[in-house]
Amino acid sequence: MVSIKSSTDLKKMREAGLIAGRALKLAGESIKPGMTTKALDKIVHDYIISCGAKPSFLNYNGFPGSACISINEEVIHGIPSHKRRIQEGDIVSVDVGAFYNGFHGDTCATFPCGKISKEAQELLDVTEASLYEGIKAAVVGARLGDVSHAVEQYVSERGYGIVREYCGHGIGRELHEAPEVPNYGKAGHGPRLVAGMTFCIEPMINQKGDAIKVLRDGWTVVTKNGSLAAHFEHAIAITPDGPILLTKP
Ligand code: MG
Repeated sequence: MVSIKSSTDLKKMREAGLIAGRALKLAGESIKPGMTTKALDKIVHDYIISCGAKPSFLNYNGFPGSACISINEEVIHGIPSHKRRIQEGDIVSVDVGAFYNGFHGDTCATFPCGKISKEAQELLDVTEASLYEGIKAAVVGARLGDVSHAVEQYVSERGYGIVREYCGHGIGRELHEAPEVPNYGKAGHGPRLVAGMTFCIEPMINQKGDAIKVLRDGWTVVTKNGSLAAHFEHAIAITPDGPILLTKP
């Protein structure tokens, strides 16, 4: 069941979304060579707590961090670690969730650490732009497939791979609600978008090929061929005036 949010709910979701969005921005500004992913996680954790909110991901299905931090060929769900240091030239995906006043916010971006290759920068640009293509398609009266298709078309035209096994999702009182929001699909298909729907669009894009695998830690998802991956996400609300970005600071 897709839950429809009232305007009061949406106000609260914007508050939760802002906390997540600001935590993400802070994480991006804090990344520097030599830093451990655990130290970056602590920055996110402490910020969310300082807002009176809770990190949505901490202990979610047993996840041992407040942010998922995924470097280079890691696509999603990287576990913060005291042993893992971020290096100059890495691309670092930080996925952040905050629970506040009964609602969740969920957002992600991939940040460069120092100077990165032209190819890596291009991957970040295409992935972020594909998120905004999806958001543009998320209007009242459109179908969910239009959103998925918009992301897919933008990405495939540029020759990048799309992760199929993971996707965006409804969000609200639960971190993951219906509907699923795949990053590929048929235009004109799927549920009709109505005002008050809230969901996350989150393209997970590989430099080469769609294939992924899960590492033995049971969490970290990496590209099967070791190519780079990027991930951008916003939670949005469908309104008569167009989509609202709940997680943009
Ligand atoms: Mg998400």
